[in-house]
Formats: sequence, C-alpha cells, structure tokens
Amino acid sequence: QAKANGRNSIRLFSRELEEHKRDYFRMVSDLQGAMERSEFQLHYQPKLDLQSGEVLGLEALFRWQHESRGNVPPSRVIPVAEESGLIIPLGEWVLEAACAQLARWRSQFNRPALTVAVNVSLRQLSSGALVDTVRHFLASACLPSDALEIEITETCAASDPEQAARILRVLRNMGVRISLDDFGTGYASLSYLRQLPIDTVKLDRSFISNVHKNARDRAIVAATAQIARQFNINVVAEGIEDPRQIAPLLELGIQCGQGFYFSKPLPAEKIPELLD
Ligand code: C2E
Ligand code: MG
Ligand code: MG
Ligand code: MG
Repeated sequence: QAKANGRNSIRLFSRELEEHKRDYFRMVSDLQGAMERSEFQLHYQPKLDLQSGEVLGLEALFRWQHESRGNVPPSRVIPVAEESGLIIPLGEWVLEAACAQLARWRSQFNRPALTVAVNVSLRQLSSGALVDTVRHFLASACLPSDALEIEITETCAASDPEQAARILRVLRNMGVRISLDDFGTGYASLSYLRQLPIDTVKLDRSFISNVHKNARDRAIVAATAQIARQFNINVVAEGIEDPRQIAPLLELGIQCGQGFYFSKPLPAEKIPELLD
C-alpha cells in the first residue's frame, strides 16, 4: 500500500516537474519573442524630497504587456530572465531606454540634476559586462555618470560579496550612484552597509507602512537613519502610501521618499506633468 502510494506521488511529482519545465520554456520563448518585437516598456516612479515635494529622480521599472498573458509583473519575469540568461540583453535594453529617456527629460524640462535609477540583478552584476554597458549607454545619451543610479538588492550581493563590491567600486569611481534596495529585508543588511560602496539605502516598504502607528517600526527606521548618517549614506523611504507616514519620517531625518501616495509608476508619456 505504502509502496504504491509512494510510486504515485513520485509520478505526480514528476508530472508537476514536467509542467513546470514546460511553463518555464514557454515563458523563455515568449520573452525572446517580446524582445525581438520590442514589446517591453519602462514605467517610472518619482523619488521626491519629502519637505518640498520636488521630484529628484525617477526609478525605471520594467513592464511587459503580453497579448495573451496580459501584464506580466517583474516578479515573474525577472527570475525567468535570470535563470535563462535573458536578463543580460533585457538589462541592456532597460539601461539604454532609461538613459535615453532621462536625457530627453533633462533637456526638455531644463532639469540638469534629474536622475534615473535602474534595478540590476545578480546575474547582471556578476556578468563582467555591466561596467562597459553602463559606460556605453551613458555616453550614447551624452549623460554624466552621476545621472544614473544603480539599485541592487542584498541577495544580489550575497553570493559573492567581494566580486560585487569590486564591480560596484568601479562603477562608483566612474561617478555612478549605488543604492541598496529593499534595505532591511535581507539577513546581512548591516554587513553590506559596511562592505559595499553605497550612496543610498532604500528602506523597505515593510518598515515604512506602519511607521506612523508602530513604535517598533519607528525604532528600526530611526536606527537605520542614524547609522546611515554616520556612514554618510542617504536614506530613501520606499512605499509611502499614506500622508501620515511623512511627518515621522521627517522627524527621524529621512528627507526622500517614493510611493503610491505621491505617484504610482507611470508610463513615460505621463512624466512631463510631474516635472512641469
Ligand atoms: P523595487 O526595485 O523595490 O521597486 C519597487 C516596487 O514596489 C515596484 O514594483 C513598485 O511598483 C512598487 N511600489 C512602489 N511604491 C509602492 C507603494 O507605495 N506601495 C506598494 N504596495 N508598492 C509600491 P514592481 O514594478 O512590480 O517591481 C518589483 C521588483 O521587480 C522591483 O522592486 C525590482 O526589484 C524588480 N524590477 C523591476 N524592474 C526591473 C528591471 O528592469 N531589472 C531588474 N533586474 N529588476 C527589476
Ligand atoms: Mg528598486
Ligand atoms: Mg525596493
Ligand atoms: Mg522591492
């Protein structure tokens, strides 16, 4: 009896595995097709000065609208792109599009200090080509290096922190800004703060959503802000959805934020009204 059950569950397991593999390969081939047909888009979410409301920069976020899959979120696309290696051409496309777009906005709205932030994942960071890619697309857009911010997550630095630190240092010496995204959610946040050349930490949404209601969350935000100050690192609060979150953040010395309260990520054509 037990033996028969065991065999069934093995069969079930391998069928699921087959399905999973089939889904994966279909997704990879759809992604490849989408890349050839240029079906990708970037949306942009503003980063603001919490006091003045001024837009300081824009984070580029990848969007894929597929004819039958509909809107496929980055949380589904990026892991498949990473595993298949498609993240390399996809990441190049994102960098090129974001740099070109920023250059247009800078001149169109006479905003020479406006920045763009691009998310970079592990495979991109460890590919060895990132530095040249960044240099190339900055030059083609005639942008200075400090127009670009690279956002990495802690998991991104985890597998080989030495190698990650080396590449980030080269980028930073060029003048590119480095942000540590989703800060506080990894298991070694503080040690990355010490090892990596970081300009900005983006404090994860999970610490921000109740900052006006919860003393523990406020304590974490305060401690992060204090360490960051001593390291000369900026702090950005992610995921501000409620105006009541702003006062406690300012009290704790956090000047910059992003979130649905200010603006959802928007297609490029909607950004001019934010900049005007
Ligand atoms: P992230 O870099 O931390 O980006 C912030 C995510 O939180 C975005 O989700 C954004 O839409 C969402 N968000 C912003 N404000 C709020 C808010 O107030 N409330 C809530 N609930 N959510 C908010 P999105 O666009 O789905 O992206 C998810 C993640 O996918 C990003 O997290 C980033 O890690 C990754 N990603 C997006 N685009 C790219 C890309 O071009 N390359 C790479 N490697 N990763 C990307
Ligand atoms: Mg980000
Ligand atoms: Mg984030
Ligand atoms: Mg995130």
